[in-house]
Amino acid sequence: MRTFIPFPEALDTVLSHGQKTEQEIVSLSDAIGRTLSGPIKAADDIPPFASSAMDGYAIRTADFRDDPQRELIIAGHIAAGAVHLPEVKSGTCVEIMTGAPFPPGADAVAQKEWVRQRTESRVSFSRVPDPGKHVRPAAEDVAQGEQVFKGGERITPAILGMLASLGVDPVPVRYAPRVRIISSGDEIVEACEEPDEGQIRNSNGPSLRAQVLEAGGFCARHEHVPDTPDEIRQVIASDPDADILVFSGGVSVGDHDHIRQVLESMGGKTLFWKVKQRPGKPLAFGTLGTSVFIGLPGNPVSSAMCFEIYVRPLIEKMLGRSSARSSMLTAQLSRDIRKVEELHFFTRGIARVGGGGQIKVEDTGPQRSNLYGSVVRANCIIHLPAGIDRIEAGSEVMIQLLPWASPLPA
Ligand code: AMP
Ligand code: MG
Repeated sequence: MRTFIPFPEALDTVLSHGQKTEQEIVSLSDAIGRTLSGPIKAADDIPPFASSAMDGYAIRTADFRDDPQRELIIAGHIAAGAVHLPEVKSGTCVEIMTGAPFPPGADAVAQKEWVRQRTESRVSFSRVPDPGKHVRPAAEDVAQGEQVFKGGERITPAILGMLASLGVDPVPVRYAPRVRIISSGDEIVEACEEPDEGQIRNSNGPSLRAQVLEAGGFCARHEHVPDTPDEIRQVIASDPDADILVFSGGVSVGDHDHIRQVLESMGGKTLFWKVKQRPGKPLAFGTLGTSVFIGLPGNPVSSAMCFEIYVRPLIEKMLGRSSARSSMLTAQLSRDIRKVEELHFFTRGIARVGGGGQIKVEDTGPQRSNLYGSVVRANCIIHLPAGIDRIEAGSEVMIQLLPWASPLPA
């Protein structure tokens, strides 16, 4: 087991265990938020046929060459969904509705609002459209055979709409990694309970589960174990199918921190314990059978930050996500920060877009790992690497946007 390792090594070790999950097929209506497991090619053109973009008249622009106010004979009517299309011959036009297939012979649509005079059988216009006006060509959006998605995209409402247009239902997606959230601690009661003296409410369990779901993982419920090795063992053994076991608490050096020892007694292998970072120094990571386990320190700030730093990218990797949502940006620090030189700091920050589009960032105030308000106020994590003990205002720093934060305010 390696111990007190640098942050980049810890993250690499965790991510090297991110094997892609299997593919499953889900109905389109359940596909929102899931991740495409492979490329999607268009089986058809979109739009599949040329159609009118307006309610009006399909005309031949050449008919107006000598007389823009020429009267045309209305030779037919095409509604959306029509099948038999009349040909538009010189001197005639066909009434056409938005989305209706565009008839042969015509080359533009004169919109209804441009009608100058109309009788039962004839119409003239106050304006003449240019050739192609208000005609949507076939395949304008997507051509048949085109690769529309390369796989690894998280299905957004927009992607879902495109999949529907393409007729991709059901949809091939990756299995959501199965994540167990196990909070430990004799002092912990659930949010709906009234704590007795010395007890606190379990805030990590619900928030970690929410982070799992937000990241695209599956977690039926969070679980809680007391600081008793036998009970911890029983709970772990009760469901061996998880891809990731996330523990909150019980991984430090306290007399009642048993998580690692129990995992090892069950055949687990700790790959590292303790990382040169703040918050979250006592982080533990390893394998148990085909699962990986990650022991997050119990302090709510450490738990939330270490999830974002390690577990979210691990879930994203298992999903084969093409772009991590926790993307890094460069920002300019607004005020000095002091730090411990040998540790990598994950400082909770508030980033704003300043004049000229530059992103400015400042810390959220006191950063002790029990002050959960510093997470609530933050919209990003400021990465302050090991090797420096003070970062001056005006310096460039890397920030990791929190995926639930709203767009950066000005
Ligand atoms: P531990 O990592 O078990 O030593 O816990 C560190 C600190 O986090 C202690 O003050 C715990 O009471 C607190 N803590 C542990 N688990 C939770 C939890 N699930 N929710 C809120 N606080 C917790
Ligand atoms: Mg504890």
